[in-house]
Amino acid sequence: MFGGGESTHKLAIIVLESLKRAGLPATPRNYELWFAHLDGRHPSLTRDIEIATDAFGKVTQANADALYRAHLQRADLTSNVVDVITRMNAEVADLSELVESAGENATGNSKTLGGLSEQLRQSTEDYPAVGALLESVVKVAKNMHTQNEKLESRLAESADEITTLQRSVEFIEAEAMKDPLTGVANRARFDRAIYLCMADAKAADNPLSLLLADIDHFKGFNDQWGHQTGDQVLRLVAEVMAGNVRNSDTLARYGGEEFAILLPGAKLENAVELAERIRSAVEGRRLKKRTTDQDLGAITMSIGVAEMRDVDSADSLIARADECLYAAKGAGRNQVVDEQSLGAPATSSGAA
Ligand code: GH3
Ligand code: MG
Ligand code: MG
Repeated sequence: MFGGGESTHKLAIIVLESLKRAGLPATPRNYELWFAHLDGRHPSLTRDIEIATDAFGKVTQANADALYRAHLQRADLTSNVVDVITRMNAEVADLSELVESAGENATGNSKTLGGLSEQLRQSTEDYPAVGALLESVVKVAKNMHTQNEKLESRLAESADEITTLQRSVEFIEAEAMKDPLTGVANRARFDRAIYLCMADAKAADNPLSLLLADIDHFKGFNDQWGHQTGDQVLRLVAEVMAGNVRNSDTLARYGGEEFAILLPGAKLENAVELAERIRSAVEGRRLKKRTTDQDLGAITMSIGVAEMRDVDSADSLIARADECLYAAKGAGRNQVVDEQSLGAPATSSGAA
């Protein structure tokens, strides 16, 4: 970390030397990433760099690119949202100005009309003057009509523009909540979903269950077949899981090779059934390396299942599912463990 008070020049040297030690080329993107890491204001980036270093011995360029996307490009996303919202605000401000000025026009017009009708009343015997007055009335009415038409078409344009902008905001929001690799919900979306689902389930007195699933021996798989093939497996596993859940469920990438599924309305036994279906579907997929057609063997998953209790917080529910997942790993992997079987002495053998 920077000590504070260094000159920009000195900071640049610290960043470049640290990049060199990490074995990464000093491209502008790597420099930006490393600067953000070293300046200590991105603890989650620093944590991910440590995890990547632990897992691979170093941060590869592919890791660095992924970290850049996950931690720094998000800032771009935020500035996009700000930009769109600024435009929307400007649009709405324009609109209210227009409505206000139309209001003033209408007041002016009606005053003119009022004056005209008064003159009309006073000059009933003076026919030529009445004709001229009528002409003026028609003019005023026409003017109002044109104003209204302008206002209407301007309103319609603005409404279209606002709809387009709203769609952009929705799209950007949805993208920000997606895991870029697998397309399922990301951790941020899961954190929000578990909070909302728990509140809903408690309010309606409905059950809610949680699955935590982790790919077995994935580090070894990456070591043997490479990180890119590992990424393909992550996509495939996400696809298999997505094919087994309903719209009301939330499937999320919870961590590196760990997925979570929130199941509103599901009791423990329903959730266990689903977990078993997913476990067996994943195990049943035959994997081939795309480039060489080599058989990659089977991938398996361990899954922990817990059902929400009244006293649960999100953390305590996740902790119970995680305990079950840990037990499934300890009992030999490629299996489902739920909190009831975890509590029962007959099935807890072998748990590490
Ligand atoms: P276990 O059966 O105990 O879960 O063993 P494991 O090897 O799966 O677990 P460990 O936590 O030791 O390693 C997780 C590995 O997941 C480390 C890393 O190689 C891999 N991984 C995490 N995120 C990604 C990713 O985005 N892409 C790829 N290809 N691999 C990843
Ligand atoms: Mg694993
Ligand atoms: Mg894991």
